This record gives sequence, C-alpha cells and structure tokens, in this order.
Amino acid sequence: MAGDRAESCSFCGKPAAQAGKLIAGPGGVGICDACVGTCGRLLDREKGREGRPAAAAGGPAVQEAPAKAPLAPIKLIAPTQLRLELDAHVIGQAHAKKVLSVAVFNHYKRLNDRQKPADAAQAGDLAGVELDKSNVLLIGPTGTGKTLLARSLARMLDVPFAIADATTLTEAGYVGDDVETVILRLLQAADMDVERAQRGIVFIDEIDKIGRKSDSASITRDVSGEGVQQALLKLLEGTVCNVPPAGGRKHPEQQCIRVDTSDILFVCGGAFAGLDRIIARRGGAKSLGFVPPRNDAPSLSAEQIVAGLQPEDLFSFGMIPEFVGRLPVISVLEPLDREALIRILTEPRNAATKQYRKLFALSGMSLEFTRESLEAAADKALALGTGARGLRSVLEGVLLDTMYALPEAAPGSKFTVTADAIRGEQPVSVAAPKKKAS
Ligand code: ADP
Repeated sequence: MAGDRAESCSFCGKPAAQAGKLIAGPGGVGICDACVGTCGRLLDREKGREGRPAAAAGGPAVQEAPAKAPLAPIKLIAPTQLRLELDAHVIGQAHAKKVLSVAVFNHYKRLNDRQKPADAAQAGDLAGVELDKSNVLLIGPTGTGKTLLARSLARMLDVPFAIADATTLTEAGYVGDDVETVILRLLQAADMDVERAQRGIVFIDEIDKIGRKSDSASITRDVSGEGVQQALLKLLEGTVCNVPPAGGRKHPEQQCIRVDTSDILFVCGGAFAGLDRIIARRGGAKSLGFVPPRNDAPSLSAEQIVAGLQPEDLFSFGMIPEFVGRLPVISVLEPLDREALIRILTEPRNAATKQYRKLFALSGMSLEFTRESLEAAADKALALGTGARGLRSVLEGVLLDTMYALPEAAPGSKFTVTADAIRGEQPVSVAAPKKKAS
C-alpha cells in the first residue's frame, strides 16, 4: 500500500531519497541502512565484539564484504623507528614527525586491540576502557610535506592510502561529491578489499577551506562549509557508511558497499594562513594587557604555535567545535627555507636530483648538479611560493630540452646543470665522453 510506505527513517529522520536503503516496517515506519548499522554495532558491542561491522544489515541494495579470514594484526612499528624511516623521506618537520609517529603507533595499537577476540581482552581496572581514535590535524603552508608524511607512514605500515580535497565535497544532495567518495578512494587504493580499506589512512587536504560561512546563514544553506564538516564528522569518529562503487552522487536504487570507518585514520591538512599572527597577538596581549592588532607580529616556530594554539583559534577559521574535537592530535609544519629546499633536492631517498640522475644513467649518460644550481633552483621555488612542490617543476623545465635530445647524445656524455641553466641564461652543459687513446 503506497500510503504505508515509509517516507523517511523513523530513527534519524533521513528522507528516503537520501538513505542508501530504507527498510519499511508496518504502519509507515522505516529504518535506514545507516541506523541498521549503528544498531548492529550496538548489539555487537553488547556481545563483546565492539566495533566490528554489523553482521546482518540492509537489504538487496547493500553489498556486504564477502566472508573471509580476518586480516592479520598490523605489524606495529615503534615511534622511534617510524621517525627514523620518515627522516629518510622528509626533510625537517621534527615536531610533526614525532607527533605523527606516536599517533600512528597508538592508532594501530588500538586497532589491533579492538580486533582481539573478546576472551583475550584485558582484565582489571582497564577492562572495558575504550581507546579514542587519534585523528590528526597537520597545519602548515602548502608544499611543506603534509601529504608526504601521511603517505610515507601508510607505505611503512603497508596500509592503503587515499588523498581527498575537502573543497570538492558538498553536503549530500548538492552539486559536488558526497563525503563517501573519500572512502571510495581508499577502497580503490585497497583494490576494493573492504577489510583492508577499513584499516587505511585518509589524507584530507584543504580542510581550512571548508570553514563555516557565517554570513550565508540567512539566504543559502552552507553546503560546502559547515554541511561538509558535519558529514565528515561522522566519518572521522567512526560510522558504517554506504559507498557508491561508481562514485559521485548516491541514489536509492544504487548498489552500495558498506564500510566501517571506525579504524580508518584520518589526517587532515590545512594552511590556516595567519594562525601564527593570531596566536602571537594573543601572546602579546597576555603579557602587555593590550596590543593593537598588527600584521607584522613575529612569526612563531612550529612548537610555539602548537603550544599557544587554542581550539578557538581554529573556530575563527570557521571550523565547528565538534569537528575540531575529532582531531585531537595537532601538529604544525614549518615553512621550508632555502637550506631545507636544497636538502630536499638532494637528500631524501627519492630526491628529485637522484631521480633525474637515474633517468640519465638508464640512458648510459651522467648528470650532475653544481651546488650553485641547487641554490638557484631553491630560490626559484621560493619565488613560486609553493614550498617544495615547485622544485620538481623547476628542474623539469630546465632539463626538458636535454631529455628531449638525450637518445641522440653520444653514449657516455656528461651533462652538468649550472646556476645559469636554472636561470635560463645558458643551456645545460654537455661534455662528450673522452675518446680512449688507441
Ligand atoms: P603539502 O604540505 O601541500 O601536502 P606535499 O607533502 O604534497 O605538500 O609536498 C609536495 C612535494 O614536495 C612532495 O611530493 C615532496 O616531493 C616535496 N616535499 C614537500 N615537503 C617536503 C619535505 N619536508 N621533505 C622532503 N620533500 C618534501
């Protein structure tokens, strides 16, 4: 009977069109798949299997992960060891490395603990103590290594990793991507293996760009600001979400994949430009009683910013308190100076100059960079203002012509990149191999 059809979930109120699946009961009541999942988890928790995805839930529109042997526990790596490995890939950012190493170690310790059978649970006064998730917020200018840090950790732990851009997301029902596409990326990185995806790491960039737009309340809904924060909130704290395998917008008849986000580690990144000034000003105000607003307040170190940071500072960027509350671990990345950029060009295991030298070596040629050329490249990247991100494009531009003609060069030629070549004043110099005396 059409009149008896549930129009919305009787538990959370979500309209039928927005619920992945709405199961109707007698008398026009209904329950959506998300609420079924929540109920399932509550029941599981009662049975001492807290946190596992609900067993039987949803209807034909929901694809369950095929039953298979549970994954082995994650091999824990001590924070000091993680830090050492990070040093091989990331230059500087000591505070962020330490904070992330600890957060990641604790996260996977928690995950392994949650997946232990109930009878192996800890006894005594710690029995039943639930460990909170340690999602991370990395604050720092663009191109300073936020994504690189998160990606490097995922690689070390051999867990799937996905990157999402918060600015492409909108609240469900509006033009843009649903927040579930973030989880879809992770699923894709895990070759659609739900169990593996459920222990992955997601990096959400540009998180400071989804601030609440305070002046929009009266006319339009804030679907790309507060709406997205609200939707992400659930993912961050852990929910069973329905992911449309083809991405994009969900619709009622679509086959969805259920993914529990309780054990996914979320690392959010954002520039929060001007945060140091806000903190510096407050610091001054405390000691002097009154400091007129100044834009030339001294820039603070990462440690000083972390030490002085208060949640309200992030609220002033439009972040809602509940969202900030889901990111209990915070670190700040330093802007990269000239010396750091030079080190980035040469020191990391996959440093850009090493990669180009290898490319040349594979063609039987050699390539060298003079110290002055590295300084010139760092200066050019600094001028671009995109942190270390600019370095690669600087070198790519300089070496383009040389690489274009490389196969025709005399075998064994030696190429040298000079500062003039970086500045575009001279071509990359080449010396033909010395002929052997006969
Ligand atoms: P963002 O902070 O914007 O997330 P990324 O981590 O994506 O920056 O950095 C872009 C690229 O710049 C990286 O792929 C890496 O090659 C380089 N890079 C940035 N920061 C560092 C760093 N601290 N050490 C080594 N390489 C870096």
